Amino acid sequence: MAASTAAARRLLLALAVLAACLGSAPHGAVALRSLGVGGAKAADGDAAVDLDASNFTAFLQTSPESFAVVEFFAHWCPACRNYKPHYERVAKLFNGPDAAHPGTVVMARVDCASKFSFSVMSEDDEAAQVNVDLCNKFSVDHYPYLVWGPPTKFNLAQWKPKQENSELELIDDGRTADRLLKWINKKMGSSFNLDDKKYENESMHPKNTSDPEQIVRAIYDVEEATSHALQIILEHKMIKPDTRDSLISFLQILVAHHPSKRCRRGSAELLIDFDDHWHTNLSLSLEDSTTLLKGAGEKVCGNGVPRGYWIFCRGSKKETRGFSCGLWVLLHSLTVRIGDGESQTTFTSICDFIHNFFICEECRTHFYEMCSSVSVPFKSARDLALWLWTAHNKVNERLMKEEKELDNADPSFPKIIWPPKQLCPLCYRSSSRTADGAMQVEWNEDEVFNFLVNYYGKMLVSSYRETSMQSFQVASISDDSSASSAATVPIGAALGIALASCTFGALACFWRTQQKNRKYYHLRSLKKI
Ligand SMILES: Cc1cc2nc3c(=O)[nH]c(=O)nc-3n(C[C@H](O)[C@H](O)[C@H](O)COP(=O)(O)OP(=O)(O)OC[C@H]3O[C@@H](n4cnc5c(N)ncnc54)[C@H](O)[C@@H]3O)c2cc1C
Repeated sequence: MAASTAAARRLLLALAVLAACLGSAPHGAVALRSLGVGGAKAADGDAAVDLDASNFTAFLQTSPESFAVVEFFAHWCPACRNYKPHYERVAKLFNGPDAAHPGTVVMARVDCASKFSFSVMSEDDEAAQVNVDLCNKFSVDHYPYLVWGPPTKFNLAQWKPKQENSELELIDDGRTADRLLKWINKKMGSSFNLDDKKYENESMHPKNTSDPEQIVRAIYDVEEATSHALQIILEHKMIKPDTRDSLISFLQILVAHHPSKRCRRGSAELLIDFDDHWHTNLSLSLEDSTTLLKGAGEKVCGNGVPRGYWIFCRGSKKETRGFSCGLWVLLHSLTVRIGDGESQTTFTSICDFIHNFFICEECRTHFYEMCSSVSVPFKSARDLALWLWTAHNKVNERLMKEEKELDNADPSFPKIIWPPKQLCPLCYRSSSRTADGAMQVEWNEDEVFNFLVNYYGKMLVSSYRETSMQSFQVASISDDSSASSAATVPIGAALGIALASCTFGALACFWRTQQKNRKYYHLRSLKKI
């Protein structure tokens, strides 16, 4: 009796947490739908994102772009109707999967006279102009009214043009597409052209040898890759009785150590769904279970992800980079976040995940060979991070030769032995070239590890805070600290993941409580390697 009451209480807690979680989910997906991102195409083919008071802040706070333009307009205003094709022409350069310059500027619009909200409204509200307060907040006194600035800076109580110490600016000369783009080019020091097409006019100079700051933006690609990976798993019905444990084990690591807070939350929700829909006795058919998991899997990193484009991992040609680059970055970012006690479990989990779920046959076979050649269990996070770095360099070395033979390298991102000296001079004790031109490096592994921790740990973090999460977190976590200190804390593998999961929040804690009698950390997969 007492046990069933406790179980019921735990269930209620989980439902409350889940309801809070789902209820507060950002409305970015609706907005993104008008971008044609996340599956649906906008009915009218617009590129600019329609925002309203209900999704304005959430959307801009989670936008990966460095800058935003928001057009405040009124649907009844004839000048605004005439202006729309001009605004759209510029928006098509920056927004959506076919954009020539994705990830640089996001272009949105708010209808100040709208009586319709993207969120559910009560009948009483229907007649109200839902965006009036929002437009007043930006001191909109004419239409169209264009505001420019970093997306995160749009979250403020009140703003006036020419306000001191503000990074937002009124665009005072954007009345035609030409003039608006000229204004943007001047601001950004860019030379975008209205006729630019995707993958056209890309700089063919190698870009992967410098600028350590680029990794900061990879957080969006790590989210994209996580979401993409789950989509592939679900669409290809890859969860089978002999692969499910490996997915669960990988999700546990994501709950505890994914660099993006919303992916940690989504992974925890997916684990809960796993319990509900995928019992060990497989009472449901594989087909039904996959369908039930799809909902949670599709929003593992939040609504609107995958976005359909890459930023850090964007190639200069259509068929290069993207998902596999994002997956590498995710794996490296996990290895610098774990504790020493989790290193062997994480190694097994990564190897099994790639083996079971990476749909590139050659890649998973080669990677599994490298996994299988490890004979001594990992005892420290440092060793695992360095092992993955070495494994990645072995792949780079092989592909360097293949790409040269086939002449199919991405000219902006040729394969290199990584990190190059420009990124980490201290990593190199010495380097030389063999007769056939191959690079031989004597590495300073302590410096390489420091570099990896800084690059994939401290620099690659969620760039936004989710207020909705903070209300029910057991202990708030700092993304930054989780990266730096984790590698030095020796704790037992399962305990480490459980504790880290609990630090993440009530969802993961609840899931761990449920799991305490189950044996997901079994030795079967370890024996395979
Ligand atoms: C597990 C795995 C195995 C793969 N195996 C194969 C294969 O066998 N054959 C094949 O054709 N393709 C394979 N791929 C794909 C291939 O490795 C690249 O991902 C793809 O060619 C895209 O390359 P990229 O230029 O975007 O850089 P990627 O190699 O994807 O690297 C992404 C980013 O990681 C950083 N990086 C590069 N090297 C290292 C390193 N050593 N340590 C840490 N960070 C580094 C760089 O910033 C780079 O931009 C594999 C991918 C994965 C995830």
